[in-house]
Amino acid sequence: MKNDSMKHTITLIQGDGVGPEVTDAAKRCVEVAAGVHGFDVEWDEQLIGEKANKEMGAVLPNSTVTSIKRNRVALKGPVTTPIGEGFRSVNVELRQRLDLFANVRPAKYMHGIKSNYKSTDLIVIRENTEDLYAGVEFDNGKSETKELIQFAETFTGRKIRQDSAISLKPISVFGSRRIAKFAFEYAMQRRRKKVTAVHKANIMKFTDGLFLKEARDVAKSYHSIEFEDKIVDNMCMQLVVKPQLYDVLLCPNLYGDILSDLCSGLVGGLGIAPGANIGTSHAVFEPVHGSAPKYKGKNKVNPTACILSAAMLLEHIGERTAASDVEKAVKSVIKEGKSLTYDLKDKNPVGTKQMTNAIIKRIESK
Ligand code: NAD
Repeated sequence: MKNDSMKHTITLIQGDGVGPEVTDAAKRCVEVAAGVHGFDVEWDEQLIGEKANKEMGAVLPNSTVTSIKRNRVALKGPVTTPIGEGFRSVNVELRQRLDLFANVRPAKYMHGIKSNYKSTDLIVIRENTEDLYAGVEFDNGKSETKELIQFAETFTGRKIRQDSAISLKPISVFGSRRIAKFAFEYAMQRRRKKVTAVHKANIMKFTDGLFLKEARDVAKSYHSIEFEDKIVDNMCMQLVVKPQLYDVLLCPNLYGDILSDLCSGLVGGLGIAPGANIGTSHAVFEPVHGSAPKYKGKNKVNPTACILSAAMLLEHIGERTAASDVEKAVKSVIKEGKSLTYDLKDKNPVGTKQMTNAIIKRIESK
């Protein structure tokens, strides 16, 4: 029965490259699911990245941040970040400004996808605000960099080449405990069995050592969930050989970023990998993939990652049955194997719009 008072306002950020195509696909799926389940959705469109810079003079306009604060949730397409020059990653800035400290990236096998890893069902939980991603960097040749090198040499007795650039890797007790608690709570709520902390504490004894120590300590409060740890290089090998042995992976920022792409590769690639950035008050849902500029406007890429991110958003705002229907519709289209994009189908693949239409038909037929 339709409940007229139920309306959700969601901030929508299209992003760059293929962003507008995949967010449009996800938006259509959410609207159809809302119609089926009797709630309304209003989209509050905002800009970030290059487009925002051109039109509003800032890559991350205050109005965008305010919109997400007001609406509490956003669906976001990927944003292009120039490599090694230009503005810093607007994604990183957004996560820091809204304190979206937990990045959740599920990687679950879906029937119909060619993969040697059919029993994979992983959730990567990545700390999202610290580590080498904190953006504390010193360029080579700058006077402050030389001062920092001098300071480090004096206090550690180690030599650092004078022409070095330096990035700092802050990992705090607060940040480590907060993400560890989030991972265990997430595991509890979803009846997961094991949390594996990923680190390189044998080499980075202070930073990764601290992350591991705090994770171990938090684990003591969750008796029903198994806890173990793995060194990141071994973790990569383990995931490629026997991913079925793992469940929830608790990672500092950089390892989490890399491992989540690896995990998405196990189950079908970036085209199907959704993600969520969650804070205490706000959450931004976005596909793991980037803006894939070469496919911009070509009706080519897989909309699944963004549609499944939107399903995670629906679940987050309490529309669980709608979320589940969207997810089931995606699975059903993939299992059938007809209306799939080039990354999932070698012969006669369809375009973004056609795959989206097939998914929408399934949502409507619920
Ligand atoms: P990318 O994810 O954009 O593309 C890598 C390759 O993955 C593509 O060439 C394509 O073959 C495949 N791919 C990506 N999305 C797909 C989809 N939906 N369906 C099918 N195949 C897909 O990574 P990149 O080329 O390293 O980055 C491009 C830009 O995106 C960079 O500027 C980068 O900084 C940015 N980026 C943004 C985000 C974000 O906004 N969250 C995340 C990652 C990268």
